[in-house]
Amino acid sequence: MGSPSNLIEYAQDKNSHFYLCQCKTSIGLYEDGVITDTIHLVIVLENVINVKFSDSHLRITECEIQNIHCAKCGVRLGYKVATPRKIPHPNDDPLVVFWLDWTKVLEWNGNEILGAHSEMSPRMKRFGMDKL
Ligand SMILES: [Zn+2]
Repeated sequence: MGSPSNLIEYAQDKNSHFYLCQCKTSIGLYEDGVITDTIHLVIVLENVINVKFSDSHLRITECEIQNIHCAKCGVRLGYKVATPRKIPHPNDDPLVVFWLDWTKVLEWNGNEILGAHSEMSPRMKRFGMDKL
């Protein structure tokens, strides 16, 4: 999988906040996040780095879906979802977002790497999901 020498590494300092693979490879910036869905356990980002996409596509309605894999260790991290645009846009490229599996990624929060997603979020606990 990939060439590790080409990987980009975000700096772990107090001004940065980003997601990492379990192998500590940088995957995406917190600021590129569209939504963190604590029900479906996905983090949706507009941009990812250090990943490879599966060659095969799955089509669900009009969306084209591919698996996202870490370019270093190869683990599957989530899905790339491409949707045709419905409103005029300067280019005709589909709208692309990246769904990261909440349980597969780590998070640098400016202070430490959290395996935060192996724990249930306060919001989910509020919904009583830790009692299921
Ligand atoms: Zn990895």
